[in-house]
Amino acid sequence: MSKQVAIIGGGPAGLFAAEYLAEAGFQVEVFERMPTLGRKFLMAGRGGLNLTHSEDLKTFLRRYRQAEPWLSAAIEAFPPDQLRAWADGLEAQTFTGSSGRVFPKAMKASPLLRAWRARLDGLGVRFHLRHRWTGWEGDQLCFLTQDGSEIRYRPDAVFLALGGASWPRLGSDGAWADILAQRGVEIASFQASNCGVEIHWSEMIRTRFAGVPLKTIALHYGEEQVRGEAIIASYGLEGGAVYALSAPIRAGLAKGEATLRLDLRPNQTREALAAKLARARKGQSISTLLKKTLGLSAQAAALVHENGSLPREPEALAARIKAVDLTITGQRGLDRAISSAGGITRAAVSDDFMLKALPGVFVAGEMLDWDAPTGGYLLQACFSTARAAAQGIQDYLSAAS
Ligand SMILES: Cc1cc2nc3c(=O)[nH]c(=O)nc-3n(C[C@H](O)[C@H](O)[C@H](O)COP(=O)(O)OP(=O)(O)OC[C@H]3O[C@@H](n4cnc5c(N)ncnc54)[C@H](O)[C@@H]3O)c2cc1C
Repeated sequence: MSKQVAIIGGGPAGLFAAEYLAEAGFQVEVFERMPTLGRKFLMAGRGGLNLTHSEDLKTFLRRYRQAEPWLSAAIEAFPPDQLRAWADGLEAQTFTGSSGRVFPKAMKASPLLRAWRARLDGLGVRFHLRHRWTGWEGDQLCFLTQDGSEIRYRPDAVFLALGGASWPRLGSDGAWADILAQRGVEIASFQASNCGVEIHWSEMIRTRFAGVPLKTIALHYGEEQVRGEAIIASYGLEGGAVYALSAPIRAGLAKGEATLRLDLRPNQTREALAAKLARARKGQSISTLLKKTLGLSAQAAALVHENGSLPREPEALAARIKAVDLTITGQRGLDRAISSAGGITRAAVSDDFMLKALPGVFVAGEMLDWDAPTGGYLLQACFSTARAAAQGIQDYLSAAS
């Protein structure tokens, strides 16, 4: 009889492991607490499902910062090209956007998830929805079903893919952290990542410009600089350029560094801007200078005023446009963060993603303590670690037989 693997968590990491292990001939049982699979994956597709990124692998791996040495082997073994090929095998017809990001043609996750589910059904994977894992009783896994009854199950190996702790209403609430900590697994506390920052805006910015994008800007925080886009929110700033700075901002805020510097014209030097201002017709209002002479949008022109009254002198005005200092009062919480930092530490797992404290239990995806910006790096790491951990299970069970 084939060996049985319990996969707990029906997000991309769990489903990818299910596919690998079912193809390898194991009987795979997937347990998911929600009524449907892949809710966060579907949510990820709402704003365009960014599966991975097309940049060269060396640059790609650097995006994982401190976790690069940990994740490199798994990502090199299942790199972006292979993830793309896999998605294309599910009719995704992936394409590379102008930013280098890779998306399915449909932009959303639902067609891919549907085709994936059909493939898994065809492989004989069995699904147990509305089954919430609550821990172990002896060597048995315990699940609570929706009607309140408890189910117990003892597989030959366990694959945990329970996700991080952001957007808990989609299913990944991080409650597993206590269960594992009690069993001696080291867990780093969860923190919001790829989240907005809070800024105390003037009344004018908050009431007139909340929801409005800032295109082609640069943000500077400490030594780091990111070019891209952001969106003014009533509470502060959100969007890709802000998210990319999540990790340094989190570290900086802990040390009291609160200044985020906004460059509203990153493609032009201060000198070039000052020269344009100096050539402008005398007597123009500051508003005309900003909008007509320099072509700033209404929102960018308004933001220049956030640092107090404006100088008329071209050099000083150009300097202000290139450096609007914003004071960050905090980062947004886990509730609406795209991802979470924290989770199972590197020290707690072997090279093939088995928990050292719990032999036979493998882990993957966002429940591991790595952090990455948006751009496809989150899903790529989930797929690659899932594949490495699934291979770990295959080796583990083959060695045991
Ligand atoms: C708004 C948003 C947009 C995003 N956009 C992108 C993007 O474009 N590109 C990108 O790379 N990433 C994106 N992400 C991140 C990406 O979706 C996640 O990193 C990814 O889904 C994590 O996969 P996972 O399988 O590790 O965990 P999850 O997808 O979180 O899946 C874990 C599963 O485990 C289940 N579970 C949890 N606890 C239990 C339990 N006790 N018992 C049973 N089941 C349980 C959960 O219900 C869930 O279904 C986005 C995230 C959000 C919120």
